[in-house]
Amino acid sequence: MNFYCPKSLNEALEMRARHADAVVLAGGTDLCVQIRNAVLTPNAIISLCGLKELSGIQVEGDSLLIGALATHTQISQSHIVQKKTAPLAKACAEIGARQIQNRGTIGGNVMNASPAGDTLPVLLAYDVLVLVRSVAGQREIMFSEFYTGYRKTVLAKNEIVIGFRVPLPVLPERAEFYKIGTRKAQAISKVMGCFRLVCDDSRRVSLFRAALGSVSATPVRLSETEKFLVGQMLSEQIVTQAISIAANEISPIDDVRSTAEYRRHCAGVLLERFLRADSKL
Ligand SMILES: Cc1cc2nc3c(=O)[nH]c(=O)nc-3n(C[C@H](O)[C@H](O)[C@H](O)COP(=O)(O)OP(=O)(O)OC[C@H]3O[C@@H](n4cnc5c(N)ncnc54)[C@H](O)[C@@H]3O)c2cc1C
Repeated sequence: MNFYCPKSLNEALEMRARHADAVVLAGGTDLCVQIRNAVLTPNAIISLCGLKELSGIQVEGDSLLIGALATHTQISQSHIVQKKTAPLAKACAEIGARQIQNRGTIGGNVMNASPAGDTLPVLLAYDVLVLVRSVAGQREIMFSEFYTGYRKTVLAKNEIVIGFRVPLPVLPERAEFYKIGTRKAQAISKVMGCFRLVCDDSRRVSLFRAALGSVSATPVRLSETEKFLVGQMLSEQIVTQAISIAANEISPIDDVRSTAEYRRHCAGVLLERFLRADSKL
């Protein structure tokens, strides 16, 4: 097996173009497990580890730019992320345990494309753009269009994910990330979700975003629930109706981690927890 260590992004892109059968290595917390278990048997590996230019986190205009190689530790400890998009900091702080957070990257989490990837519903709820580059140039892909099916993405063979553009919230909002797993740490999610809420002065909902993970092949936005809640004053009855609409928007499956029935129940619990916290119901 050939192991390539490019010293710059341009060099990495040239290698990517030349070696279509190579796999890209970031923190290796998913890839190394897959290679060890012979799920993957690549002919070549292109390591991005030395590309410091892909690990920055900074505000640019009305967006937060996060490099693909930013680790979960960097993101969860970033003051900008904590202040502007707190659910992302929280999701990264709940991934695996310290060792995994120190090595695992946001780019790897997205490209591993597991339905249980904890950052995925957050990126979906924030209408994030995925920045991808090849020797031919750069393109920006809506996160909602990035996955085409179970563990499938629109990334071309010659492209590398270089980062994420997170539009900063315009209005003050309440936002949360919740994860339900078997334990408090080292637990892959049974269900997790990101919720964002803005209410006007009369406490009427003016913006609501909800995205869940581990309830289908790819992360899902609860579009019908979002539509239903906008314009409503939160009440017991509205929350109950929202939970019922949400339950019909997802089609979870039974697998080794949980049952479809439990996942559907948990999705409602997370939504209820978030809405009740705001409405003091
Ligand atoms: C013990 C353990 C616990 C874990 N717990 C959790 C958890 O709680 N929640 C969770 O979501 N995940 C968890 N994971 C999974 C994993 O740690 C994360 O998905 C991590 O973010 C992967 O990032 P990485 O940098 O290690 O990716 P890698 O393993 O290096 O790569 C993963 C995949 O992404 C591709 N890739 C990586 N970077 C790029 C890029 N820039 N462009 C194109 N392709 C790229 C690789 O080719 C590979 O296919 C756990 C893993 C372990 C081993």
